Amino acid sequence: MGDVLADIWDKLLRYLQTNHSQIWRNWFEQIEPISLENGLLRIGVPEQSRQQYLKKICNESFQQAAQQITGHLITLEYILTDEQQLEHHQVDSSSSIDTDLYYFSPDYTFDNFVVGPCNRLAHAACFAVSEAPGQAYNPLFIYGSVGLGKTHLLQAACQSLLKQQRQTQVAYLTCETFVNHFIRAVEQGKLHDFRYKYRHAELLVIDDVQFLSERERSQEEFFHTFNTLYQTRKQIILCADSKPAEISGLEERLVSRFNQGLVARIDKPDFETRMAILLKKAQLRGINPPDEAIQLIAGKLDQNIRELEGALTKIHGLALLEGGTITVELVREALGDEPAIPRIRITISQIIDAVTQHFNVRLSDLQGKRRSRSIAFPRQVCMYLARDLTNHSLEEIGGHFGGRDHSTVLHAYRTIDKLCDNDQNIRATLDALVAGLTEKNYQRR
Ligand code: ADP
Ligand code: MG
Repeated sequence: MGDVLADIWDKLLRYLQTNHSQIWRNWFEQIEPISLENGLLRIGVPEQSRQQYLKKICNESFQQAAQQITGHLITLEYILTDEQQLEHHQVDSSSSIDTDLYYFSPDYTFDNFVVGPCNRLAHAACFAVSEAPGQAYNPLFIYGSVGLGKTHLLQAACQSLLKQQRQTQVAYLTCETFVNHFIRAVEQGKLHDFRYKYRHAELLVIDDVQFLSERERSQEEFFHTFNTLYQTRKQIILCADSKPAEISGLEERLVSRFNQGLVARIDKPDFETRMAILLKKAQLRGINPPDEAIQLIAGKLDQNIRELEGALTKIHGLALLEGGTITVELVREALGDEPAIPRIRITISQIIDAVTQHFNVRLSDLQGKRRSRSIAFPRQVCMYLARDLTNHSLEEIGGHFGGRDHSTVLHAYRTIDKLCDNDQNIRATLDALVAGLTEKNYQRR
């Protein structure tokens, strides 16, 4: 590696760490820059999940940083350096719709999962299944309320199995995707393809199966998929927000199938586990908060781990603006009753600016009537952020988007909220937008 490249790369990393802390991960330090020629910066990544993370979530930040450092427009290419991983072993669950919506998060591994009394059984079961799929517990059903690590465990099991046996056909998808694919297959007369795809997986993992609730035809299809796999001793892992019997509108025969293997609950973490999780997340992000700060956060937020993580990100972001160190005072301020970030200062037009820039759409599109996803989605994101970050009423917000009524705004809010729960890509996008907006306003004070 040339000295010039090494130098640029190092500056770029430091810039990202400071200015894009929400996407920063400690393993960025291990990335190898390969070349910088004609405005193309090629970097090497050893793992597919990391490559995907960089491509899908970090690309904009990397580009911005590279431009900042070099003064030129730079395109980045993320090259998988481990050739054995070049083959794609996931059953492609995204051929027709939601293209590439899902990939595994490099954060969601067993190594990064903290085991405590609240999740010990669920963790042990997922681990056992990833070591001996189809043999230990089948199906494995994990349940617990939102933000307690279900998706993390499911993805960890998939990734761990793929690491040991690259050839395994793993199908990991949300139940919503399954249902959408099914509907699409019926419409297009492609049921055969659909069935072939899911019934040939060696490990089928379906996230958030409560989505099957009240959907009779999808349940019927799922029942047959389940049976086919089960009878051929293929492993099935499922998770939901409640136990099988408590998922409303779930057919009895599915309830009994789901109860046939092991059902493991995840509870809210106790104080020690929350501390350990915060430390783990801090380590992953290359930050080193004092114990007392960690204790404060763990003491204050006890409902959900996503919230805990969000607080850490926010506090880290604030710390960077104020010189870099996370102090106890800063944590107090950030977690105090009065919001650390003055809400009223964020305006709808700032939100619109940020969103139109990010999604490359025009204001007139957002105000217009077009309902294609490329327009409707940014529009909904705007409404969501406006409700979350400003004090405007639903009616006022609707007024900014072509006079839409309050129920439209509410619907948009709920839609995005749900997407954030289910799709970490979208969650990261929103986190980044919020971080950008709050940062701007914070600096302005
Ligand atoms: P769920 O799918 O149950 O809603 P997630 O799996 O999305 O929850 O978890 C929310 C966040 O909390 C993720 O960032 C995840 O990494 C983190 N998390 C949850 N449980 C743990 C744990 N035991 N150790 C480390 N991180 C955890
Ligand atoms: Mg989840």
